[in-house]
Amino acid sequence: MKIRRLLLCLIAIPALGWADFEATKTEAVENVDRQSGQLIEMSDQIWAFAETALREYQSADLLADYAESQGFEVTRGVAGLPTAFTARYGSGNPVIGIMGEYDALPGISQQASPVKAPLEEDAAGHGCGHNLFGAASLGAAVAVKELIAAGKLTGTIVFFGTPAEESVGGKVYMVREGLFDEVEIALAWHPSNEIRADTASSQAIAELRILFEGRAAHAAYDPWNGRSALDAIELTTFAINQMREHVKPSVRMHYVITEGGDVPNVIPEQASLWLWLRDTTHDGVNDLIERVRKIVDGAALATETSGELNVASGSYEMLANLEGARLIQNNFEWLGPMQFDPAEVEFAHQLQEATGKKQTGMKTMAEPLDEDPGEPEGGSTDVADVSWVVPTLHLSVTTAPADTPWHAWPVVAAGGMSIGHKGMLYAAKAMAATMVDLYLDAAARAAIRQEWLEEKGDRVYESFLGDGPPPLPED
Ligand SMILES: [Zn+2]
Repeated sequence: MKIRRLLLCLIAIPALGWADFEATKTEAVENVDRQSGQLIEMSDQIWAFAETALREYQSADLLADYAESQGFEVTRGVAGLPTAFTARYGSGNPVIGIMGEYDALPGISQQASPVKAPLEEDAAGHGCGHNLFGAASLGAAVAVKELIAAGKLTGTIVFFGTPAEESVGGKVYMVREGLFDEVEIALAWHPSNEIRADTASSQAIAELRILFEGRAAHAAYDPWNGRSALDAIELTTFAINQMREHVKPSVRMHYVITEGGDVPNVIPEQASLWLWLRDTTHDGVNDLIERVRKIVDGAALATETSGELNVASGSYEMLANLEGARLIQNNFEWLGPMQFDPAEVEFAHQLQEATGKKQTGMKTMAEPLDEDPGEPEGGSTDVADVSWVVPTLHLSVTTAPADTPWHAWPVVAAGGMSIGHKGMLYAAKAMAATMVDLYLDAAARAAIRQEWLEEKGDRVYESFLGDGPPPLPED
């Protein structure tokens, strides 16, 4: 792989010298800097909206309006998702896509303060930093658009406003709609505790909805006439927990009981379970689904209820791309380390102290490129589904102090102040510079696509979605 890349570079560089790349990247970075005020304002607004999956109306509008104001052609409500949109600029090839998320997580509202204190009791919060994610990606797209407008790059840039990453998986619907089909290479980033050109995959996941129907009866007067759907749920979860001993260590299974009856003196007629199954590959997840299907059948038999299992959605494992990661790594090195001032470091120390971590502040240097990352860590993303239909480059950038817990209040706190803002701008610059490479270097694009084709092999992508519409919230 290394040798081929070197050869491709030798072919490509003489046609367009490094000085051209560098000058264009410098302009791309300046284009991000020029927008910094607007990007910070947008990310702060989205942070305060804190809208959860498929309810991101204000957040999506804010980003779509900004894209429109910058001359992009915006299409709202794509793929049957009212809060999804695309924004396109330019014409012809290459078509480069960039993804932005903006959904929050329920129940972790937090002020931009190093002391745990909700902004609003029981409200949602941006505990995954998606307020920064959407704004940075759009900022990078605008930076590239200006280079296209100035005639310094040729081709098309498409920004994908992708809702509902935290549950449902908006991108899976957008993939199903064919929205990524024209894209040659796509990019995404994620807020993080560190700076990294990602080479690791992510876990495949399936979201299951399990429903039992029994018979209601008075729980004291004539319980023999009843058949409890809740009993069936309890048997199901018991069997899943017994199964834990007999699955690979890479498997993750977690659930909540979403319906378990209304009152103890009525035998529950209906009960339901929301179960997520994860493993290293989608094949592994499919095996788990079949085992859970048997559990559901067994629980129904034992309790004389009827059980139904629906695979509501899910995501594949990510096809990481080492060729793309090398480009990103070079751009991290070109940009240099992130800089934080003493007040930001003090803020980080307080967050680290509050969560029992060492007071080390932020990680400001890119991690070394990991060419052999092994099995993915726990966690999944719908970016992975995009990676099966178009080669996808992925990076992570520091937006929160080292080691502090994710999907939790410290990430909300740091993402609403200058630590998060700096990470957002750094990510936008790294992505804009990487896109300059992609537009200018056809050989790099070819190498990325070749690796992707080899990695995918003859495996066929069949998403976990059925044909149905997305589960839009009713309220
Ligand atoms: Zn996230």
